[in-house]
Amino acid sequence: MLVIAELNQGPSVLDIVAWFVYLFSAVMFVMGLHFMNSPKTARKGNFISAFGMIVACVMAFVVLFVQGFISVTAVIVLIAGIAIGAIAGVVSAKKVKMTDMPQLVSVFNTVGGGAAALVALNDILAGEEPSLVVLITAGLGVLIGSITFTGSLIAAGKLQGIKWVKKLNLPGKGFWNIFFAALTIAAFVLLCVFPEQKLLWSILTTVFALCYGLVFVIPIGGADMPVVISVLNACTGTAVAMSGLAIDNVALIVAGALVGAAGVTLSVLMSKAMNRPLLSVLAGGFGGSDAAGGAADGPEGTMKETSADDVAVQLVYADKVIFVPGFGLAQAQAQRELADLGDLLKEHGVEVEYAIHPVAGRMPGHMNVLLAEANVPYEELVDLDDINPQFPSANVSLVVGANDVTNPAARKPGTPVSGMPILDVDKSQNVVVMKRGRGRGYAGIENELYFEDNTQMLFGDAKAGLQAVIAAVKELLN
Ligand code: NDP
Repeated sequence: MLVIAELNQGPSVLDIVAWFVYLFSAVMFVMGLHFMNSPKTARKGNFISAFGMIVACVMAFVVLFVQGFISVTAVIVLIAGIAIGAIAGVVSAKKVKMTDMPQLVSVFNTVGGGAAALVALNDILAGEEPSLVVLITAGLGVLIGSITFTGSLIAAGKLQGIKWVKKLNLPGKGFWNIFFAALTIAAFVLLCVFPEQKLLWSILTTVFALCYGLVFVIPIGGADMPVVISVLNACTGTAVAMSGLAIDNVALIVAGALVGAAGVTLSVLMSKAMNRPLLSVLAGGFGGSDAAGGAADGPEGTMKETSADDVAVQLVYADKVIFVPGFGLAQAQAQRELADLGDLLKEHGVEVEYAIHPVAGRMPGHMNVLLAEANVPYEELVDLDDINPQFPSANVSLVVGANDVTNPAARKPGTPVSGMPILDVDKSQNVVVMKRGRGRGYAGIENELYFEDNTQMLFGDAKAGLQAVIAAVKELLN
């Protein structure tokens, strides 16, 4: 490869400077990731990583220019591209609502995967016949990047709730998965074996991988999306690392490897949290699309409505209350109100805990971030395994905009949430559910919890509802 050839001739001063600068960037990435371990230091971690990336980009730019790899016109085009990309990134990141962040991340994955595939494709097609090492690394970059491109695009559409994307259905999903996976691998192997036909095999690898990305994500819906999103995230990182190997850019290799490794770790954690074997999700063995799986028969019975005043009485006279936040809390931006209610009850001597399901909301760690924003101490957030044994001793569980993560249907076979561990809210002495109406959760099925004898519904927007409950609690305490 280029680096080895360069080392044989002795590296230039520019090479040595570039290596040290890339090493510095890599250290910044690792430090940034370390700071992201806690919500308190996460913002600092983001800045440090972004700084490392800016330094790496500037260095790559200088190397290309000084070594004469790019013309002045190319420099102008690059600067224009960076400016457009930076403005689009800053504007979208600033404008997007917290609840729409997962879609934005999916779009970023789409762009990242697509860019990595294009860089790798260029490395294969430009110049003379590439070496086997370049063919393998760049070929994998094309393959994984293309899968990520279409897969993340569909995932973003599903998360955004675009109707026609959610309704997409694929009869015989297992067959199409295997079919396109086999074609993609065959085209990639032929690319490595017959480099003289690189144009044909690299184009076919790209096309088949793009199709595989589609058939991989289209059938997945319901409760399996979190696992798929983390897998696609891991794919973006891996594709970038492969492209970095192909073009000998250390910063790209390190950044890609870190994203890839973090994505794999998250995928394993998510699949464990969801009780889904990772390989089965990858093979399309789990999850029904919302079109296919959403129409499960609803439970029988009626919902009992309650009022803010009644809820306030239950909360004030309770010894122990468990708050169960979900996507609706994020949607209503009611985290501060929930924290205020918690503080009020704690001051009155009530024991208050926050039950955190690993896939509550629309992105990993969504509830943790949301509640940290409202200054709820991290120690008060209790995860699924630790909170579940506590529900029977809770006088009241207050479910705020959570649905799927509390659905007892998960304990039965044959539903889109079957097998997913849930918060055992139904085992509490009393349950109050705050939601706007009879809307279903992300998995698209009815929730049996709402029809249980010990459940009461407080209908309305979570923010307005919590404000009404806070006012009623204050009145009672005065
Ligand atoms: P759900 O999406 O299952 O349910 C949210 C509920 O909130 C809805 O039933 C809705 O009912 C209610 N709601 C919406 N807006 C408001 C509002 N303003 N005020 C009050 N209530 C509101 O949320 P959960 O957190 O329980 O479950 C998360 C789901 O998302 C899981 O299925 C998970 O697999 C999936 N998912 C999670 C990801 C992750 O990484 N965390 C990523 C992708 C998907 P109504 O309309 O009646 O108000």
